[in-house]
Amino acid sequence: MLKKFLVCWGIATFVGVVPAVADAPKHNVVLFVPDGLRPSIVTPETAPTFAEIRDKGVNFVNSHSLFPTFTMPNSSGMATGHYLGDTGVFGNVLYAGFIIRSETAARLAFIENDGIIGDIDNHFAGNFIDEETILHVAHRSGFNTAAIGKIGPTVVFDHTSRGGGESVIMDDATGTSAGIPLAPWVIDGLKAEGLPTEAPSRLTNKDHGDFKTPGTKDANIVQQGYFASALTNVVLPKFKADGKPFVVVFWSRDPDGTQHNQGDSFLRLEPGINGPTSMAAIRNADANLAMIRRTLDKLGLTETTNIIISSDHGFSTISKQSQTSGAAKQAYPNVPQSLLPPGFLAIDLAAALDMPLFDPDNGNAKVESGQHPADANGYIGEDANAPKVIVAANGGSDLIYIPSGDRALTQKTIDALLAQDYVSGIFVEDDLGSFAGTLPLSAVNLKGAAQMLRPSIVVNFKSFSTGCSVPTMCAVEVADTGLQQGQGMHGSFNRGDTANFMAAFGPDFKQGFIDEAPASNADIGKTIAAILGLLPESHGKLVGRPLAEAFPNGAMPQWERKTLTSEPSAAGLRTILNYQISGDTKYFDAAGFEGRTVGLHTDATMADKK
Ligand SMILES: [Zn+2]
Repeated sequence: MLKKFLVCWGIATFVGVVPAVADAPKHNVVLFVPDGLRPSIVTPETAPTFAEIRDKGVNFVNSHSLFPTFTMPNSSGMATGHYLGDTGVFGNVLYAGFIIRSETAARLAFIENDGIIGDIDNHFAGNFIDEETILHVAHRSGFNTAAIGKIGPTVVFDHTSRGGGESVIMDDATGTSAGIPLAPWVIDGLKAEGLPTEAPSRLTNKDHGDFKTPGTKDANIVQQGYFASALTNVVLPKFKADGKPFVVVFWSRDPDGTQHNQGDSFLRLEPGINGPTSMAAIRNADANLAMIRRTLDKLGLTETTNIIISSDHGFSTISKQSQTSGAAKQAYPNVPQSLLPPGFLAIDLAAALDMPLFDPDNGNAKVESGQHPADANGYIGEDANAPKVIVAANGGSDLIYIPSGDRALTQKTIDALLAQDYVSGIFVEDDLGSFAGTLPLSAVNLKGAAQMLRPSIVVNFKSFSTGCSVPTMCAVEVADTGLQQGQGMHGSFNRGDTANFMAAFGPDFKQGFIDEAPASNADIGKTIAAILGLLPESHGKLVGRPLAEAFPNGAMPQWERKTLTSEPSAAGLRTILNYQISGDTKYFDAAGFEGRTVGLHTDATMADKK
C-alpha cells in the first residue's frame, strides 16, 4: 500500500498537480496508553510486547509527559497535540470558578468522570478544551474511531460526541446511566460474543487500604480483560468488515491504578512501586496489547496498522514526611503519627494565612484542628462560598487558585510555600507579576488559549531517590493524597514522573530506530494527525510537533538543552527548570529547588543525556 501511494505521488508531481493524498489508502493507528508506565522498567522479561515494539520499531528515549504529570492533562495533550496552557486541563482535580454540578453546587471536581466532563463542556458551549481531538477529526474525515479503557482520559479523545453514533466510547461507566451510550451494533456484538453490555468493576484492584490496612495485591485483570475482549472480538472485526481506516485508543488503567493502590510496601519507601503487584499490573497491560496484536494479525491488519504506545506519565513512590509542616505535627484519627495528612498543603496554608479552612468535599464543613480535608482539597478564607485561596489537591503537585488576583495575598502564599521542606519549585500566573524564588506559568507552557480558569500557583513537591543505580526508577515524592506512604503517585516535576514510555511500530515508522530527539505527549497528537493526513481545527499556539524523524526517510531535528533559573528567594531558594527546545516546541525534563527534585540539574550541560 505504501508503494502504491509513492507511485501516485510520483505521477502527480510529474504532471504538476497536488497529489490526491486523500485518495491514497489510509493506514490505521492504534494508540495504546499504559497509564503510568515508566520507560526503564520495560524489558523483554517484564513486558515482552512493549519491549518488542520498542526494539523493533522506534524507541523514543528522550520522552516527556506534560507537567503537571497527571492523567487528564496528558490525555488532553495526546488527544489534541496541544500543551495544557491551551487545553486548560491543568490537573485531575480542577477548580472551575463556576458551579460544575448543580445538584451539589460543586465548583471543584475530580474530572475522571464522563458526566463531569460533559457538564464542563456544556459550560463552554460544548467543548471546554477548545481544540479538536484526533478522534473527532478522524471520524469526520471518514475513519472509524473508538476509545476504550479507563474512565476520564478515554472520553477526552472524543468528548464532544456523546451519542454513541460516532466514536465508540467504552469505559468504567459503560452500560450505566453515567456512561456514554453504545451504538446498537456494539451492543449486539457484545451479546453475540457472550460479553456483558455493562463494564465490570475493578473488584479488589480498587482496594487502596488505609492507615492500618495495606492496599491491593491484585492487578486490574478482569476489567481490562473485558475492554480488550470488546475491542478485539467486536470493534476491530467490525472496523475490518467496514473496510474503512480506523483510529483506536486503548487506555489501560494498569499499571497506574495498581501502582497507586498496591499493598506491597505498607508505610515503607521500599520496594514502593517496584514490588510484585506493580509488576503484575505491567504484565496485565502488556497482555492486553499482545491480545490486540494477535487480533490485528488474524484480521490481516498488521501491515497497515501503526501501533503507538505512550504512557501518560511516569510514577514515584509516596513519602509523607516533613520536618517543617505544622499539619504533620497534629494527631489525626486516621493518619500515622507524625506523617503528613491528606490536605497538608491546605492546612499549612490556612495556618500561615491565619484564615479558616473549609472542606469542599464535605459540604464546605469547617476543618478543625486534628481534622484534615476528606480528599485533600481546601477552601481557605472566612466565607467558604467565596474562598480567598483554593487548594485543588492532585498528588505530586497541587494547584492553588487566588480568585482576587491580590498580589499581597499571593506573596504571603508564596512565602508560606517557601518555608516548607516539602516544596520544590513554584510556578506563578504571569499576570500577578514576578516573585522571587518562582518562575511564571508561561515558562512551562501553562499559559495559552485555555478557556478553563488558570491556577494562580502550581506548587511542585519534593522528590528524592532511595539510592538505586537509576534514580528515576526508585524516585520517591511527597504527595498530597489520601493514599499512604509507600503507595504510588505521580504529578511532580521529577524525571521519574516526566519520563514516560514511548514507542511506535508500523508502516509509517522506521524500524530498529532509537530516537534521541525530545518527544512529548503533545507530539503524539501531532504525529497521529500527520501520519493519517488529518487536519484538526486548532486555536492555541502551544503545540507539539510531528515526530517526523521517526517516519521512513525522516531527518533528525535540531534541539538543545537549556536551564532557566528564577531569582533567589530571601532564603536563597530558586526554582530551576531543565528543558529542551526543538523549533518552537519545548520539552520539560525536571524542575524544582536544588537538591529537592530527582533528575534536576543546576547546569544544562550536566543534564541527563538519556
Ligand atoms: Zn495516568
